[in-house]
Amino acid sequence: MKKTIVDFDLNSKRVLLRCDLNVPIKDGKILDDTRIRASLKTINYILDNGGSAIILSHLGKIKTEEDKEKNNLYPVSIRLSELLGREVLFSNDTRGVELENMVSKLKFGDVLLIQNTRYEDLNGEKESSCDLELAKYWASLGDLFINDAYGTMHRAHASNVGICKYLPNGLGFLPNEEISKIDSIMKDTTHPFIVIMGGAKVSDKIKVINNLILKCDKLLIGGGMAYTFLKAKGFEIGKSLLDEESLDYCKRIIEKYSSKLVLPIDNVVSVDEDGEPFEKNVDDINVDEIGFDIGPKTVKLFQDKLKDAKRVIINGPMGLFENEKYCHGTKAIYDYITTNNIKTLVGGGDSASSVNKLSDASKFYHISTGGGVTLEYLEGKDLPGISAIDEKEE
Ligand code: AMP
Repeated sequence: MKKTIVDFDLNSKRVLLRCDLNVPIKDGKILDDTRIRASLKTINYILDNGGSAIILSHLGKIKTEEDKEKNNLYPVSIRLSELLGREVLFSNDTRGVELENMVSKLKFGDVLLIQNTRYEDLNGEKESSCDLELAKYWASLGDLFINDAYGTMHRAHASNVGICKYLPNGLGFLPNEEISKIDSIMKDTTHPFIVIMGGAKVSDKIKVINNLILKCDKLLIGGGMAYTFLKAKGFEIGKSLLDEESLDYCKRIIEKYSSKLVLPIDNVVSVDEDGEPFEKNVDDINVDEIGFDIGPKTVKLFQDKLKDAKRVIINGPMGLFENEKYCHGTKAIYDYITTNNIKTLVGGGDSASSVNKLSDASKFYHISTGGGVTLEYLEGKDLPGISAIDEKEE
């Protein structure tokens, strides 16, 4: 068991806290503050228990000087201050005397956000290559380190993995909750266990398919990725999404797991996204048509497979759900799950946004806040950000 924040006495401690405040920002405006909200529980716990919080986070990628302005964390400090209902100090420097002065003046109950950790990437990729001299410097600012940045646990950077070498450390509430929810679904021994995969590209999901197909009873495939499987079965798919390089892989999966794999039997197609949609069986798609959603017969087939499901993992939407004409398949599957109270975890990639748009997220067992990290965890990989944290003493 890894140490967590509750294992520490935080009173009069300067807590170095890695958060994932990597929110979408356009022209200085935050478009979605979900990740800032997700960090509040751990920050408030530190402050309520007599500590001060020195927060590190990345924002976007920094490859050139120009990337710095659009990935400046300052607007995040303003939003964080509004959500916490208290002042958030901001250091424009990622290291140096001014930062050190700010840290030395911190009172317990104060919050300080340090500028984007990836500004250090301009200086020889120090953050992303886990430069230990940088990690040691950041560690010198605090008494202990808490990693709450679930979204970056699949990366080994100076600000999440490196710092662990130099300070007592533990996990924040967010990664602890995320990991225990995923573990609970994966290690549950009840059956049937159904996996539903959709979204765009097969190649992004091969390792997840490889891991989950061994564990599940049925793998239902919809969304754009279903067309590469249908093509591998010999169907005409018109101009639907095709992931040519994954065709052989799909053929192998179809042969090896024919009893587990469930593919669409009909689709909603059109000549382009704005054209009139038609329902068509899979053997009836024309060369100039594009499949944008699963059809009503497939919805019924998938619902039938979900009938007695005890646990479900969903990764990826069943169609181009952003367009109202093609959201019905995804919505019908979510409606069936919520109406029948099936224990369902949604995660990886952009899956969460389709639930927020089409359904009631509170009715699901868990909607993961992680994209790439949840995919890697579902692949069965160890997450370096978690592995670096100290074990609890027995
Ligand atoms: P992913 O991040 O791989 O889960 O892919 C999600 C994206 O796949 C969403 O933006 C969907 O609009 C898109 N998508 C799902 N089904 C289709 C489809 N049949 N054709 C084109 N795009 C699709």
